[in-house]
Amino acid sequence: MIRKLSDKELIVQVVRKVKEEKLIVSEVLNYLEEIDRRKVFIDYGVPSLFKFCTRILKYSDSEAAIRVKAVRAFKASPIVKKKIADGSLGLTTAAYLDSFFKNNKKQHKEDVVKQVCGKSSKQAKDILNLLADNPVPRTLKITLPEHLLKKFESLSDDFEGCSEIEIIESLIDRHIEQIKQGKAKRRSTKKSKNQRYITRVVKEGVDQRAKNRCEGISPISGKRCQSRTNLQYDHIQAISKGGDSSKENIRKLCFGCNARAGVKALGVQKMLQRDSATLQASTNYYLEETGAGPQYTFIAPGG
Ligand SMILES: [Zn+2]
Repeated sequence: MIRKLSDKELIVQVVRKVKEEKLIVSEVLNYLEEIDRRKVFIDYGVPSLFKFCTRILKYSDSEAAIRVKAVRAFKASPIVKKKIADGSLGLTTAAYLDSFFKNNKKQHKEDVVKQVCGKSSKQAKDILNLLADNPVPRTLKITLPEHLLKKFESLSDDFEGCSEIEIIESLIDRHIEQIKQGKAKRRSTKKSKNQRYITRVVKEGVDQRAKNRCEGISPISGKRCQSRTNLQYDHIQAISKGGDSSKENIRKLCFGCNARAGVKALGVQKMLQRDSATLQASTNYYLEETGAGPQYTFIAPGG
């Protein structure tokens, strides 16, 4: 059914579903608030709303924590409830607000809520840190699932005597170095007779025009893509359709825009057959970039 929808219908429907999803989230919070008010969870042999969420409702610890915090936040300020219901405040930000209200008692709650409405959870976190009476240094807490933890622990021989932070820093440095080396190697690659080959002069011309930003244009908003990472050179008109490798026919696209252009030109099926590795890589990349993948749990401060 979903596969038969046009692109436009696909987007219209998902926007509608997300609205419904947000509404349901806020309704669930209302129920949790009432359960907490009546302390019904005691009847179920658990001592708190949090335990009720994990043991009876089968939420994970982090899902439960974020909901309990959100309930506390809208107990602290009624406007939080309103903003969650209309979708301008996410669960994560509501949880941040709970911690903020607890540590900053003198702040005017309604003003604070208004400042974080409509912001991403990361932006909200930064705003709250600026507003705080005692701003805390920025930290990132990541819960690693078992399989990643094992991989991480398997590194201990190579990094004897290093702390976890030192290991992470070393891995990141190594990755940055590899990227630099890859770029240098590509620059020195000798010219090939392949028609698809893009000369260094053309690449430099494209780079100057693109200014290290994806040149993809949204057909919906007409705005240019903001991405500055994982940029690739792309033939606007495919070589197979008579395109060449001149500056005019080459553009810089991010992973996502490039994969989307491929889907548009070839269709999903052909794209999957021809280039399943690329498409999969771009999906993985997207998940990592957005944190939408299931592997990482970002915990709210104090959570
Ligand atoms: Zn892009």
